[in-house]
Amino acid sequence: MSKLAFHQYPCLSDNYGVLVHDVAAGETFAVDVPDADATLAALAATGWKLTHILVTHHHDDHIQGIPAVKAATACVVIGPAGIAAVDRAVAGGDVVDLAGEGIRVIATPGHTLDMLNYFLPGARVLFAGDTLFAMGCGRVFEGTPAQMWASLEKLMALPADTMIYCGHEYTLANGRFALTVDGGNAALVARMKEVEALRGQGRPTLPTVLDLELATNPFLRAADPAIRAGLGMDRASDAEVFAELRERKNRG
Ligand code: ZN
Ligand code: FE
Repeated sequence: MSKLAFHQYPCLSDNYGVLVHDVAAGETFAVDVPDADATLAALAATGWKLTHILVTHHHDDHIQGIPAVKAATACVVIGPAGIAAVDRAVAGGDVVDLAGEGIRVIATPGHTLDMLNYFLPGARVLFAGDTLFAMGCGRVFEGTPAQMWASLEKLMALPADTMIYCGHEYTLANGRFALTVDGGNAALVARMKEVEALRGQGRPTLPTVLDLELATNPFLRAADPAIRAGLGMDRASDAEVFAELRERKNRG
């Protein structure tokens, strides 16, 4: 594995884009392009030459900048089938050889049916798109709650020290909801203090780390006895508890 550099930049109202650079391979890839100007500015600021784009899913706020960036850089676009700008379609289980990594493509349907996440096993980094957020998860627009839960379980099985980049800065609102269902969780209460301080200074709360999410993200804690007791769902399946949590967050 060669050493990689990561550059996360905010764009649109609450999106993040990320650039990943590998000097040894001479490659730089972007994960999603919410806004072409922001991505081109990030490339200018870093001095990196874009060679590839990895796409997570078909929503406009993740792909609308791709055509302009592709035209400016002649990069290769890798992502779900069915997106016009994608040059090379990949699916869950595929491995993408890029930046000195065998990047594992993980299908995580639920938010959309085409959602792909990308795991770099050497660097232990996950690009989670709109599947997993800090203390939250994506809304279930196209799939079912059971499908979304199965997708989250795939991410929960990754190494606990995996660094996770997400599509949006939703952390503060997610944490406020988390406290309504898991308020007795000391790790969650402590994290919210840190998140409030960071956002108060206009600083990002991402990337996050899987073990922190396992401890504080209610959508990964459907098996937790205290959360289940609070919902009156001691005997329900994890998928059913997840579905109830997602429903309550939608109403909140
Ligand atoms: Zn989305
Ligand atoms: Fe999004």
